[in-house]
Parts: sequence; structure tokens; C-alpha cells
Amino acid sequence: MIQGVENPIVTTYVYETFDKLKRECEELNIPLIFKIVKPKLEDRFFVKVIGRGYPTPTNIFRWCTDKLRINPVKQLIDKDEKAVILLGVRSSESEQRDRTISKHRTDNEYYLKQSGSSKNIIFSPIINHALEDVWLTLRYNKLPKSIDFNQIRTIYQDAESECPVYRESKGSSCGNSRFGCWTCTVVRKDKSMGNMIENGYSELKELYAFRNWIAEFRDNTKYRCSYRRNGVKGLGPITLEGRKIILEKLLITEQLSGLNLISKDEINRIYELWEVDKTNLNYQENALQHRI
Ligand code: SF4
Repeated sequence: MIQGVENPIVTTYVYETFDKLKRECEELNIPLIFKIVKPKLEDRFFVKVIGRGYPTPTNIFRWCTDKLRINPVKQLIDKDEKAVILLGVRSSESEQRDRTISKHRTDNEYYLKQSGSSKNIIFSPIINHALEDVWLTLRYNKLPKSIDFNQIRTIYQDAESECPVYRESKGSSCGNSRFGCWTCTVVRKDKSMGNMIENGYSELKELYAFRNWIAEFRDNTKYRCSYRRNGVKGLGPITLEGRKIILEKLLITEQLSGLNLISKDEINRIYELWEVDKTNLNYQENALQHRI
């Protein structure tokens, strides 16, 4: 399995639970269709950063949430005339989240509007649950059996985290120091990952080191173009040399961690995009480079 940029511990848990849930639904004759969506090749994190030279996300240039999390779901549901999206969002998680919820309220407290879509609606059955209610439900509800309470509790305890991803406004990571991408550089420090390593998940060490390294590398002007892609002078994409360094570092991280972090398709696309930039007359790394 290619890891991608989701926290590997969470990925494994999700895939395992997904399989069990599928089987449980079949046994109970519940007609649910299960699909795991992924960003399209062009939008994957490493294709954007290493292929196109996007700086890893910051709180003022957070290009990732739509591409990595929102769009893959949209692409799936947009094929349908209408879709109901089930989301485990809760009130009172944070002031920011409350503001987002109020902006999307409808007449029914359990339904929220979806940004940018009038045909879809968000169903949020646990919107009024307190955090304790969620854990008590997981602990004491008889169904679904496939959610292993002890396993999920251990993961959250070890990360000293709360709940996963929901789209927030500019400024905070969509994980908000909970479980997000292991490459997330929107947060200054990935506390969950740090806590998990301290609690024995040693396989995350190399990923954590890569994340910290790239967060600094991104801001090194030596590896940033002095022109943006629109030709305007200013801090631009990561240079081709910078992108090569990142790819090398990623492949070393892959070897050291023993995890599959990037696919062949992604690497091939990255090489193609490098070639495109080499011949792109609008791509300029510095003032000395010849421009037409
Ligand atoms: S967790 Fe961070 S990198 Fe991942 S989509 Fe959210 S803000 Fe972007």
C-alpha cells in the first residue's frame, strides 16, 4: 500500500476498520457502499511540491485542503444528482469551528449547507455531542462491532489528540494539531506525531524528521525562484535544484522508514513536470536567466 501523506498509524487503522465495517454491514444487510477516495495524480502532495515546486503549505498559502481533502470527495459526489454527506463535526470543538458551523446552519439543526454546493447537504448526527458522549458511545454502543474501542482509544491517547479533519478557515491546519497529513507544515510543530513517537511509534521518526526538515527548506530563498509563475518578481516556486533535493530526501526517508511514501506514477509525473519547466518560457528562476 502506498502511504501518501496521511499519518500511517491512522491509515492502517482506517483501512482495517473499513474492511471490518464492510463485512459487518453485509452481515446485517445494510446497503452501504464503501469507497476510499484519493486526490487525482496532478493534485497529490508530492506532485505539487516536487513536481510543480509549490512551497509546502503555510497558513497564508494553504493550497492543500481543497486539493487533498475536499476535491476527491466532491469529484465522487458531483456525479450524483444530490448527495448527503455524513460528517462527524461537533459544536464547541473550537471557536473557529463554531463560526464555520453557524455560517452553514439550516432550519434543521442536524443539517448543514455545504460550501459551494446547493445540491448537497451535510448530515451531522453528533453535532450536539460533547466529547465525552462520543467516547461513551464508542465504548458502550453494541453496534458497530467493527470499531475497536481500545484500539482507537490507544491511538488518541498516544497522540494526546482529539478529533480528525474538518475544513476550517484560513490560518489553522485542517487537522488543527489533531491527525492530519504527516507532511503538514501549516502547524509550527506537529504535536500529535511528536507525542506518538514518545509513546513508542518509532516508525514515525523518519517522517517527523522529514517534515521538520522540509518546513525549513521551504523558506530557504536559495532554492526559491525570484519570479512567480505569472512573471511577477517575488518569491516564486521551489527551483528545479530544490525539488531534486526534496525528492532525494524523500526517497531516503522512504528507505529508512520502510514505508511506501511515493508511487511510481507520482515519480514519473514529477519528472515530466520538471521537463515542462525546463522548456517553459514563463518559468524563471532568477534575474540572470534568459527571458523572451
Ligand atoms: S493536514 Fe495540513 S497539509 Fe494536510 S490538508 Fe490539512 S492543512 Fe493541508
